[in-house]
Amino acid sequence: MLDKFGRNIEYLRISVTDRCNLRCRYCMPRDVVSVPMKDILSIEEIVYISGIMTELGVKKIKITGGEPLVRRGCCELVRMLKETAGVEQVTLTTNGVLLKAYLKELKDAGLDAVNISIDTLDEKLYEMITGADKLKEVLASFEEALSYNIPVKINVVSVDWEGLKNGKSGEEKNALSELMRLVEFARDKEICVRFIEMMPLGYGRDFPAIPHNLLIPCIKEKYKGMVIDEGEYGNGPASYYSIPGFKGKIGFISAINGKFCENCNRVRLTTRGYLKSCLCYDNGVELMEVLRSQMEEDEKHDKIKNMIEEVIFKKPEKHSFEEPESISETNIMSRIGG
Ligand code: SAM
Ligand code: SF4
Repeated sequence: MLDKFGRNIEYLRISVTDRCNLRCRYCMPRDVVSVPMKDILSIEEIVYISGIMTELGVKKIKITGGEPLVRRGCCELVRMLKETAGVEQVTLTTNGVLLKAYLKELKDAGLDAVNISIDTLDEKLYEMITGADKLKEVLASFEEALSYNIPVKINVVSVDWEGLKNGKSGEEKNALSELMRLVEFARDKEICVRFIEMMPLGYGRDFPAIPHNLLIPCIKEKYKGMVIDEGEYGNGPASYYSIPGFKGKIGFISAINGKFCENCNRVRLTTRGYLKSCLCYDNGVELMEVLRSQMEEDEKHDKIKNMIEEVIFKKPEKHSFEEPESISETNIMSRIGG
């Protein structure tokens, strides 16, 4: 369906859990109080809402979190969503720690693609960022996903970790050399390596991004001939580049320095059943109460559909991450569903 700015909303991101097996400094650095299980949408409830969303034109669904693979029933959810009329694509964003163990089940369930978050290839730095010595497991999952022929994207938040570690934030040199190692990943594999500008949400506020208007020229400097690639490689806001001799693509999600709101096609469903229309604001609607009410089935369906329609229609025109005082979202990223 179209929102009031004429954007076609066809992409739903669902946070299936706010729990996680890592503690990324910019997302969930320490134990936070988890949403009680009874307040979390059940797998059946997620499928029910997704079904209504497809009636309104949603075709693509991303499962995220928290870490989606710590939620029991995640593979079954993929299967049920794939069987839902109107759903053309179901993908998953994961930290990769548990992915290897679930790949066969996910592939059998019909998973269309996976995004794996890897912010560094340095084991020590990985442990510093995530609080866990798990890089080997994540890389094993990555290799296994390729062997299953599941399309893979690597997500990298572009942060100057080395600078922060040494108390010299702003020294781009080290940071860039670390990020360049990740560019190399795309040399002989048909994957997309995507850099994400840190958004000032939750703990992300403490980790200023390396702006992509700095990062892109540096990568171009090293990789001569890197040019914009107009091909379609994802569902959203990334711009992609090709490098001569590389099988894979390099993507940039420049949330701050490359506002892409006029093409935004997505809404988000949180673990608690809150439908959210923009990452930046606390704009949305609580669906849980109606969902669990004793209303007649038809009445409930229509009521929820109307509530969703209203949220989509009123989706804000653009984010305002560049003006921190106007950000009304106060939840941490693992709650919202990154
Ligand atoms: N646990 C899964 C993972 O790490 O891929 C899925 C959830 S995580 C919140 C999804 C993505 O959001 C990750 O790639 C993570 O790096 C990114 N992320 C978290 N906080 C962010 C922020 N403030 N700005 C931009 N990206 C962020
Ligand atoms: Fe967990 Fe993903 Fe957040 Fe890291 S970014 S703490 S892996 S939800």
